[in-house]
Amino acid sequence: MQQLNSLIREASDLAMGTPESEADRMLQICNACRYCEGFCAVFPAMTRRIEFTPSVVYYLANLCHNCGACLHACQYAPPHEFAVNIPMVMAQLRKETYMSYAWPRMMGELYKINGVAVALSASVSVMVFLLLALALNGKFFGGVLDGNFYAVFPHNTLVMIFGIVFGFAILALAIGLTRFWQEMSPGRASGGAVAEATHDALTLKYLGGGHGDGCNNEDDAFSLWRKRFHHFTFYGFMLCFAATSVATIYHYFLGLHAPYALNSLPVILGTLGGVGLVIGPVGLLYLNIQRDPAHGDRSQKPMDRAFIVLLLLISISGLGLLAYRDTVSMSIWLVVHLGFVMGLFLTMPYGKFAHGFYRLAALLKNSIEKRQKNHLQFGAD
Ligand code: SF4
Ligand code: SF4
Repeated sequence: MQQLNSLIREASDLAMGTPESEADRMLQICNACRYCEGFCAVFPAMTRRIEFTPSVVYYLANLCHNCGACLHACQYAPPHEFAVNIPMVMAQLRKETYMSYAWPRMMGELYKINGVAVALSASVSVMVFLLLALALNGKFFGGVLDGNFYAVFPHNTLVMIFGIVFGFAILALAIGLTRFWQEMSPGRASGGAVAEATHDALTLKYLGGGHGDGCNNEDDAFSLWRKRFHHFTFYGFMLCFAATSVATIYHYFLGLHAPYALNSLPVILGTLGGVGLVIGPVGLLYLNIQRDPAHGDRSQKPMDRAFIVLLLLISISGLGLLAYRDTVSMSIWLVVHLGFVMGLFLTMPYGKFAHGFYRLAALLKNSIEKRQKNHLQFGAD
């Protein structure tokens, strides 16, 4: 105990510095304490190391699901003089990760003003689609178009515009993730490691808390609602993506063109996805507003909330477009919906959307190293 206390004092004497040096200081304390070992994957991964270089702390930060449990359990948390706050420093490091690995690198600066960037890109996109509709049709309201979106914007025009922006977003995300992956030096992924990481990501295992009771949100009470609302959001998004994919197959391979009937597969998938994408973001926004500020990085609140609100606007406008597609207001719903979707695509590689990919990479790295014979990664980056 005496040795532990001297290590803690030595570590706490270090000047408060960057998130990387703060994480190093705190993790040295945690590595001596190890009280939280059963909470999540971060602490077992930490015990495999004695050095916490920037690439190691970026890996651990993305492995952290920000459940908040280790802050409420910690005897060295503020107001203790050692001021250990793992959820906060991990949140700060996640932002550092996104900024450091962004491609092109200078675009990583957008993370600093992400809330404004999302609001601007979404509203400018709505304006651009409004002007495009006018330019293509000479007027905005084209009467009742029987749900035919392509009477407002030709199919090929939409495919070209969204294809270019989406393609760039995927490329930028892929380059950033590849850099992150290479710096983590993960080793070879076996089938078992891939399966475990996929399972842990799809079930959001580490939002379940160490005992399956869930996360802490506004206080030290545990709740599964953050996990549930994440699931509504993620699976809602995936259903919307599936709806678009099925519609693409219908269009190009089956010669079946929109508008599709209410009981068709693209409409059913899109409607279910849209409903999930309303319930999830509404719940996440509520929890975010209620959240104990000590759990995270205050500077990232605008980014978190802008992303949640944008998803909500996409789903509400999408459902509105479906509900009013046979009326004269269809064009306005279409312009607004496309503008919000474009706002998401433009900010995808430089906003909250990226967090799922970085977290998946960290989960895979964790599954790989658990299976390595030499578990201790002493000196490993
Ligand atoms: S967060 Fe606190 S209680 Fe948990 S391992 Fe670290 S020092 Fe120990
Ligand atoms: S906040 Fe939760 S997920 Fe993150 S390190 Fe602490 S216990 Fe683990």
